[in-house]
Amino acid sequence: MFIGLRELELQTVRFDVDVPPGEIDYDAKLTQDSVLHAEGTAQLISQSLGEIRVSGDLKTTMQGTCDRCLEAARFPVSSHFDLVYLPSGGAASGGEDEVDEAAVEVGYYEGSGLDLNDILREVVLLALPMQMVCSEECKGICPLCGQNRNQQECDCHLEAVDDRWSKLKAFRSETGQPQTSKN
Ligand SMILES: [Zn+2]
Ligand SMILES: [Zn+2]
Repeated sequence: MFIGLRELELQTVRFDVDVPPGEIDYDAKLTQDSVLHAEGTAQLISQSLGEIRVSGDLKTTMQGTCDRCLEAARFPVSSHFDLVYLPSGGAASGGEDEVDEAAVEVGYYEGSGLDLNDILREVVLLALPMQMVCSEECKGICPLCGQNRNQQECDCHLEAVDDRWSKLKAFRSETGQPQTSKN
C-alpha cells in the first residue's frame, strides 16, 4: 500500500492490511512465517516540512535461525509503533533543526510518499530481540564436536578439562617440577 502525500494533504489515511508471507523482503536469514496484520494511521503533521507521522499496531510471526543452536526458530512479533518521516534531502527550509528531538524514530522518504511495506519491515526488524534464541533454555551447539546439545549431550566438557590438566602436567615436566607432590 502506498501512502501518498497528495492524499495526506486532504485527510488522515487509515490502513488495515494483511500482508501475506513473501511480499516483504527482510534480510536473507529471516522470513515471515504468517500473515502480517497491521492497522493504524498516517498523518501529515506539518505540511510545510512534509512531516508524516505513522502510528499503529502490527502483529506477525517471523522465522529465523537460533543464534545458539542454528535450528529454525519462530519469533512472534507484536508491536506498537509511532514513527515520524521527513522528506530526504531537506527540501523544506530549516526543517532539520526543528525536528522534535524527543521523537523516538525519525525516518526519511523520497518522492511523493511512503510505501507502507517499507515501514512495516522496519518495525518488524526493530521489534525482534537482539539475541534470537529458540528458547531461553537452549543449550546451543558444542564448540568442540558440533553436537546440538538440545538433542543429545556430549562428553566434550570433560575432555576439555582433561586437556587443561595434561597441558599443566606437560608444563610441570618441562620445568622439572614433580608431577605429583607429597606434602
Ligand atoms: Zn536454539
Ligand atoms: Zn561436544
